[in-house]
Amino acid sequence: MRIADLYAKKKPVISLEIFPPNPDYPLETIYNTLEQLRDLNPDYISVTYGAGGANRARTVEIAAHIKQAYQIETMAHLTCVGHSPEEIDEMGARLQENQIENVLALRGDPPRGQSNVTFQPGHFRYAAELIRYLRQKSQFCIGAAAYAEGHVECQRWQDDWNYLREKVEAGVDFLVTQLYFDNRVFYNFKENLLRMGLNLPVAAGIMPVLESKQIRRMVYLSGASIPARLLQLLDKYADNPADFEKAGIEYAINQMNDLLANGVEGIHYYTMNRAEQTRKVFSGLAR
Ligand code: FAD
Repeated sequence: MRIADLYAKKKPVISLEIFPPNPDYPLETIYNTLEQLRDLNPDYISVTYGAGGANRARTVEIAAHIKQAYQIETMAHLTCVGHSPEEIDEMGARLQENQIENVLALRGDPPRGQSNVTFQPGHFRYAAELIRYLRQKSQFCIGAAAYAEGHVECQRWQDDWNYLREKVEAGVDFLVTQLYFDNRVFYNFKENLLRMGLNLPVAAGIMPVLESKQIRRMVYLSGASIPARLLQLLDKYADNPADFEKAGIEYAINQMNDLLANGVEGIHYYTMNRAEQTRKVFSGLAR
């Protein structure tokens, strides 16, 4: 089913995001995780695509498995960095062969260890170019990334909004936000979109804070700000990993319940492949 059709049902679309294990680990590791996630009844599960990474071939295989083994809808992430248009065509063909209808079309991050994204002549440079291409050449239902606090590389707020508009107008069916910790940020973002006449479904990206070293990396990569009340919790439990995790789970539950109470169209939950913690968060949801 196309994710756009899930949104048309007018109830919150709840999705989980997983990533493929690196090639040193068998696919069974993620299939075991999925076994523990399946009865949470997500509307779909998305599978990331490692820009430049060796595990990118696994994205299609895992997405296909989710559909076939669990009859759960799926979305494959696809990045254009490091790919020629011909390689994008090949990936599109593989997705179609596996009946995968939904794609999250992204530029991608620089490979680990590099600070900038570099492009070959003739390659797509921005997600908008990939989206336009996929829209013209395929029938995929297309999602795109959005940054409620602005994208880390963008210097000017207004530019970020203009590029987002360009991306949406290239043919996006729905947006999924980067993680953030303060729902006011999300509500303002959605309002701004509407003011710009961009009325498409947006899923709020939620990642629980489970470890203190994880939050540093999350904030570094995403540019998300940490509200004072989360900071207080993190300080309070800094020396107690078990309570730290508990507080992080509680915070995510509260964030998600507030979104649901306020009529959010979708929640995209970044599982980080942590089934046990994901189950705890979902057991606290009022849905
Ligand atoms: P773009 O929309 O192309 O934006 C990238 C930057 O370029 C922004 O700073 C933007 O302001 C700027 N820009 C856009 N258009 C122009 C223009 N015309 N001229 C000048 N500047 C411009 N990464 C992965 O590698 N694999 C994944 O599976 C993955 N999944 C993700 C899922 C979600 C929900 C999100 C939010 C992010 C994900 N990412 C993933 C990370 C994403 O690839 C990075 O955030 C990346 O840096 C930007 O991707 P984008 O598609 O938003 O790029």
